[in-house]
Amino acid sequence: MLNQILHIGLDDTDSKDGMCTTYIGAVVVDKLKEVGIKLIDFPYLIRLNPNWILKTRGNCAIVIRVQATDEQIPIIKQITLETVEKLAELHHETTNPGVVFYQAKEIPEKLKIFSKKVIQDVVTLEEAEKLAREIGAEIHKFKLGRGIIGALAAIGETLKHDKTFELIAYRTPNNWGTKRRIDEKSVFKMNELTFPETFDNLDPTTGEIRITPHTPCPVLYGIRSEKPIVAQKAHNLVKVFEPIERFVIYKTNQGTDEHLREAKVTGIKPFWSVIVKGTVSGKPRVITGGHVIFKMRDETGEIDCAAYEPTRKFRIVVKKLTVGDVIRAYGGVKPKPELPLTINLEKIEILKLNPILKKANPICPKCNKRTKSAGKNKGYVCKRCKQKFPKEAAKLEEIPREIERGLFEVPPRARRHLAKPIVRVSFPKRAY
Ligand code: ATP
Repeated sequence: MLNQILHIGLDDTDSKDGMCTTYIGAVVVDKLKEVGIKLIDFPYLIRLNPNWILKTRGNCAIVIRVQATDEQIPIIKQITLETVEKLAELHHETTNPGVVFYQAKEIPEKLKIFSKKVIQDVVTLEEAEKLAREIGAEIHKFKLGRGIIGALAAIGETLKHDKTFELIAYRTPNNWGTKRRIDEKSVFKMNELTFPETFDNLDPTTGEIRITPHTPCPVLYGIRSEKPIVAQKAHNLVKVFEPIERFVIYKTNQGTDEHLREAKVTGIKPFWSVIVKGTVSGKPRVITGGHVIFKMRDETGEIDCAAYEPTRKFRIVVKKLTVGDVIRAYGGVKPKPELPLTINLEKIEILKLNPILKKANPICPKCNKRTKSAGKNKGYVCKRCKQKFPKEAAKLEEIPREIERGLFEVPPRARRHLAKPIVRVSFPKRAY
């Protein structure tokens, strides 16, 4: 009888030189299916704290949830552990895989809370081990086994509030590390036919395709979407000139803003990602490297905000902010020794534009011409009819602002996996 629900969490299997935890997840899924194991949901690809320093690339972990008989459980565990052992970059110093098996019908509240903390904050390996003991989860540590943190966090993520999907197609091993052979025109066509139900396929500012990574990992491409069926349709539209070994559709917290929390300036901690409402208190300035920095304050304090060079055109908006503008800043806060805490902007919402006033000479009512200064403290004079005006006749005039209120985001090339693209905010919620 299929009376057991087993959650299988995986993390920390890859290195900067290769592999990808999503690939190992896909291989495990296929191997389990081959022996007749039933998944109860899509496998999940869970993005964890994007500001975490020990991540390899995108800080992701995988969970596969299966329904099985008591007899199948040891087979599932064996398949998973053997696959991780075989494929993980164990020779790499910084690769410390963790696998967690958790048999439970419901995810306990404390595991959900832990998961949120790993996505939004920092936890220790000891915390993860203690929790595993408390809830009766079985942990398998390879080397330092740091991956059990992400593996447990992935199990605890139920994606009840928001979710997206990503279809990931993988290359055959002989092609890993070589240039990806993909028909770019077909990606444009796919985007035309499926956007906005697929998103982040292209970077509108540079015209480059965004579905292929630039790392030597097994991923050929990944298509992000609102619904699995649309991801599948998009996948069928993309043409490639190399074999696809396998593909998988992951359910994910990508594009959901799950990493962000509302905060007041003085409460902000390094490694957090925050949403802060406040007022621009220091004029934007461009620093070496083309980064734009400005100060904002709320009732508790002042903090720097930065639009770094890779955010390209987003910096144009940021540069046009002025002191007194009311904004909501969204972004991550990384610890940078000797530098003030800085919000690394992902999005900015301009709520109120402060009028910029300039003192203007009065207009002569008879000639409808702007008057000239009549000399220091001598008021104004009309050049044409010579009529004089006192210095109090000068008016403060509003200079048109070159930006508008609204929500602005960094381009896809500079976007965090977790950041919610504006297209997901502005389109009405679809029925899933
Ligand atoms: P990839 O996305 O390519 O699989 P990665 O970027 O996910 O790689 P890992 O190699 O998994 O990076 O390394 C991240 C390590 O940090 C893992 O061991 C994970 O368990 C741990 N970790 C992730 N988030 C946190 C966090 N918020 N606090 C403490 N440890 C974390």
